[in-house]
Amino acid sequence: MPERKLNVALLQYTPAPAETIALAGRLCYSASDISSLNDKSKGTADKFVQKLLDLGHLSPIEHASFTFGAEGVSRALLAQITRHRIASFSVQSQRYVQQTEMNYVIPKSVHALGTDAVEEFENQMSQIHEWYNSWLSKGIPAEDARFVLPNAAETRMVFTMNARELLLFFKLRCCQRAQWEIRALAWVMLGIVRREAPQLFEQAGGPSCVSQGACSEGKMTCKMAAQVREFDQKLNAICRNGASDEEILSFVEENLI
Ligand SMILES: Cc1cc2nc3c(=O)[nH]c(=O)nc-3n(C[C@H](O)[C@H](O)[C@H](O)COP(=O)(O)OP(=O)(O)OC[C@H]3O[C@@H](n4cnc5c(N)ncnc54)[C@H](O)[C@@H]3O)c2cc1C
Repeated sequence: MPERKLNVALLQYTPAPAETIALAGRLCYSASDISSLNDKSKGTADKFVQKLLDLGHLSPIEHASFTFGAEGVSRALLAQITRHRIASFSVQSQRYVQQTEMNYVIPKSVHALGTDAVEEFENQMSQIHEWYNSWLSKGIPAEDARFVLPNAAETRMVFTMNARELLLFFKLRCCQRAQWEIRALAWVMLGIVRREAPQLFEQAGGPSCVSQGACSEGKMTCKMAAQVREFDQKLNAICRNGASDEEILSFVEENLI
């Protein structure tokens, strides 16, 4: 029953996302036919996308979608990410996939307590897995035996978000106030899409202290905007240099505040 670590990859995305969005946006304001608009959008898309973002005319940016694969994430993360209703999810089923190997995620706070604490956590996971297996051995179906499984149990998923949903997701989940596991996932996703579509995500992506210049959390502010911005700038720099998904993931794991 090994511990699992976060792994994220961008699987597919809309080809030429900025041009697709610019074409859709121009169409709203133009008498030209679609073929001429398509030609016009090739070369001038970046400026037009920025104009749409500045205006807050965000429906055209829904035309670019990004599909990710994530594994080494907990069921606790699953409960949070699936609250984002505009996204589409396919999640490994605990009804159809028996947890013969119950992998799990160990929180950093447990690691921080040292090896004895990690061992205690692992023993608890083994105990839970024994309970699960004992229900299966009594003929209880996996869909019912899973009721004893923990929030720490690993899951994997493929999910798709359009660029508008991603901007909202980054605003909420890259914020210091978000829980650590989904926050790490969100920053890795932001790094990856920034590399592929900087016109969309370099300035507009991230928590409000980064993307809007000021914290939107009011009294709940973390008061760490300067550190968050510094982290964001470093992430941006490696994305501009074409960092791979794995390099972005390592950077976030090592440097996230
Ligand atoms: C720091 C933090 C703490 C949280 N704590 C809790 C908690 O304690 N308990 C809890 O239950 N949740 C909690 N959440 C989850 C939160 O309430 C939202 O469910 C989650 O962030 C998804 O946001 P959303 O609904 O804006 O996104 P999406 O579901 O992706 O929706 C995107 C946007 O579409 C629009 N929209 C979607 N559906 C509707 C609709 N039915 N009607 C009108 N407009 C709609 C809204 O403008 C919405 O912002 C927390 C989230 C964060 C970031």
